Amino acid sequence: PAVAATAPVKTRPRPASHFVLVPFVAQGHIIPLVDLARILAERGARATVVTTPLNVARLRGAAEHAARAGLPLELVELPFPPAGSGLPHDCQNADMIADNYQFLPFFLALRELAGPFDAYVRALAPRPSCIISDWCNPWTAGVATSLGIPRLFFHGPSCFFSLCELMAANHGLYERIATAGDEDKHAVPGVPVPVTVTKANVPGFLIHPFLEELRAEAMEAMCTADGVVVNTFSDLEGKFLACYEAELGKPVWALGPLCLSNRDAQATASRGTMAAAAAQKAITAWLDEQAPGSVVYVSFGSIARKLPKQLFEVGHGLEDSGEPFLWVVKEREAAAPEVREWLDALEARTEGRGLVVRGWAPQLAVLSHRAVGGFVTHCGWNSLLEAIAHGVPVVTWPHFSDQFFNEQLAVDVLGVGVPIGVTAPVMIFDDETVPVAQEDVVRAVAALMGGGKEADERRKKAKEYGEKARKAMEQGGSSYENLTRFVHSFTRSEAKEH
Ligand code: UDP
Repeated sequence: PAVAATAPVKTRPRPASHFVLVPFVAQGHIIPLVDLARILAERGARATVVTTPLNVARLRGAAEHAARAGLPLELVELPFPPAGSGLPHDCQNADMIADNYQFLPFFLALRELAGPFDAYVRALAPRPSCIISDWCNPWTAGVATSLGIPRLFFHGPSCFFSLCELMAANHGLYERIATAGDEDKHAVPGVPVPVTVTKANVPGFLIHPFLEELRAEAMEAMCTADGVVVNTFSDLEGKFLACYEAELGKPVWALGPLCLSNRDAQATASRGTMAAAAAQKAITAWLDEQAPGSVVYVSFGSIARKLPKQLFEVGHGLEDSGEPFLWVVKEREAAAPEVREWLDALEARTEGRGLVVRGWAPQLAVLSHRAVGGFVTHCGWNSLLEAIAHGVPVVTWPHFSDQFFNEQLAVDVLGVGVPIGVTAPVMIFDDETVPVAQEDVVRAVAALMGGGKEADERRKKAKEYGEKARKAMEQGGSSYENLTRFVHSFTRSEAKEH
């Protein structure tokens, strides 16, 4: 059975609408939906985030922060993993998956959340106004359909990617690519900028052969949904939003950048997990010592994991770049004693200029610090959008999935990125190849952080988009007003009359 992990806030009159949000259990999907839950609650709606026990525990800081502000944001936990799944009990988030082979059992186990979720929703009185569930959670569709509850899907990547994915599906690109050669280039039709793909980076979530059935379920749930929520804004992706909405034939709600809903240090520090709160003080103190715009921040999101030989290339590159750097290395990457020692030695050699964070960093606090002048990113959409929202230009190093499209958006369309030069995806965990050498890091960091016309232009564009992002989320801005209409369209009619 579902368990209410936080008590509903009773200090305000009963909210006129209730949104049930079901993120896919990965940090890059949970974080923006929790941000969305909070701004829905700020607009007077009741917002419930439904997830698994480990993720509820990680989100306790965010829930407590909302509770202190009297916001009707609750967490509800569904039991996971199910008995017989073969997964360890703490394998409840994509960042806890041990190897590439655990993905399939993980996705299959998630499907079994349908039963407890169904029971939770049926027990709610009154019925929720709307279910917002991740594109990767098609198992939420059944109960919404059977009870007649509107259901929107949340699609986490850039709208540019989502449009490419939809056009590829609707115009037979997957079928053409299946019979084509590995090196053949294919144009994605119907996108307002030229996009070519190869077999290796064809757009799409869950496109691995062993996930085909799950992808078909997700595509079906996408077709039967009442609309989609996306984390972007019209001044950034207006032309892609318009095409996406036309092709999808249902409302597309652009409500971002959702990261800008974190307006104080506490909200920023506990974002994603409480672990960051402890690190924040030391990191901020270090950044305070650095000159404005001088630090390059280096992080590759919550999932991608590098083997030591690739880590060493990054570290040597940062050392040779001569720039101040703040580099996040995951706990699992730094688990081996030889890696730990090597990182210690690197920090000793670059003392005062280099800081290595082991584990989880408070990324939003870093990107909003005036000392940060550039970001080497894997182009996960949240990371890229967080950089854009804070006016920070980027070095783009895509690893897999939507990241290659986000790179194209950053470099060719928006003009805020320098490519590090990778062309093919790597395995999510422990890829044996070393696609980036230390010289690539030196060259890209120099281009990003240095002077010169191109670097100045990139910085200028990043600042302009940062300003537009802030305006989009303020009263009168596009995303703010979209949210007003969004909440209103799911408000009980008797409440609308008052
Ligand atoms: N993040 C963070 N600290 C870290 C690593 C990641 O706060 O040490 C956050 C980051 O700010 C972003 C999310 O985790 O909001 C990662 O999402 P993204 O889409 O960038 O990449 P993914 O993890 O899905 O590959």
